[in-house]
Amino acid sequence: MAVFGRFVVRFLPIAPKFIVKRIAGRYVAGSDIESAVTLMKKMSEENTSFTIDVLGEEIKNLDEARYFVEEYSRLLDEIILHGINAHISLKPTAFGLLLDKDIAIDNIEEILNKAAINDIFVRLDMEDHRVTQDTIDIVLLMQEKGYQNIGTVLQGRLFRTENDVKEISDSLGPLSDFRICKGIYLEPEDISYSNYQEIVDATNRCIDLMLESGSYTAIASHDYPIIDHSLEKLKNMGISPSHDPRENTVGVRAGKGIGYEFQFLLGVRGDLRRKLASDGHFTRLYVPYGTKWYEYGIRRIRENPDIAWHVTKTLLMPWTNRR
Ligand code: FAD
Repeated sequence: MAVFGRFVVRFLPIAPKFIVKRIAGRYVAGSDIESAVTLMKKMSEENTSFTIDVLGEEIKNLDEARYFVEEYSRLLDEIILHGINAHISLKPTAFGLLLDKDIAIDNIEEILNKAAINDIFVRLDMEDHRVTQDTIDIVLLMQEKGYQNIGTVLQGRLFRTENDVKEISDSLGPLSDFRICKGIYLEPEDISYSNYQEIVDATNRCIDLMLESGSYTAIASHDYPIIDHSLEKLKNMGISPSHDPRENTVGVRAGKGIGYEFQFLLGVRGDLRRKLASDGHFTRLYVPYGTKWYEYGIRRIRENPDIAWHVTKTLLMPWTNRR
């Protein structure tokens, strides 16, 4: 699998763009807001909600960051206009985090504020270890400023994550709202697990800690050992599928408190998502769109060559992974 992935990484740059586009079409809604809205309206029939991501990250200058602020602002307008049940997901480096932290914070707050006024939740995606602490700090800072509609993502593969869960949930109580995933970035061995089983076990420990701390927990994985573990844990804790994540909202938003949802990437294991939804679980689909679909695809595969294998398996054996 790893050898195959490395082979694809090597030859991908010479693959014709139309082939890459065809493959990416499964995982990306399109290049503009309209295509994302059309897709979400259609997929709403599958009893799912959404979180939308404008493709692009690690920009080269702050003008590019303005583009993301404006595009996310338009996106919020469209979510409101069409009444779509959607959050937004944004990458702090696209807002300038690696260029000028203060400006990035202002940019993020501009979007967060507009989202808050319209009761829309904002998730800061987690990028590689260079920005882990800064991303967490931004969430804590915004909560301190009174924005309760923000949460971040933690990555099970990092050694630090169990401690991060404890610190964030101690600090935010029922306002803590996590997405937990394995982590897509292949991080250095002195800060992360690299073995599959260790990553699964560490991610499952984080899920337990999140639920036990009374936090809202979005489980973002397509992997059965993680989903099965989560279902078992929810059952043992007596958290039923019909639990309404927002039922403890009293007057002023008091945070979601304990609750959960399952999150999936567009194009990956749709059958499993639909099965969870039909069993009564709340599901959310991560929908990326944007002109940078090519760079996004190439970059993800470079960061983690295993993705090349998943994609190829899906193309050759479509029954293993329905959209
Ligand atoms: P895997 O073992 O990788 O996958 C299980 C099975 O799912 C595979 O066998 C394959 O059949 C299928 N599959 C998984 N990925 C793909 C794919 N790309 N194409 C085709 N089939 C696939 N990571 C971060 O670092 N930061 C984030 O902010 C972040 N946000 C995420 C948000 C969501 C909603 C999801 C679902 C994932 C997110 N991730 C993020 C990615 C995550 O960390 C993992 O890299 C990714 O989900 C693959 O891990 P897995 O748990 O699904 O298990």
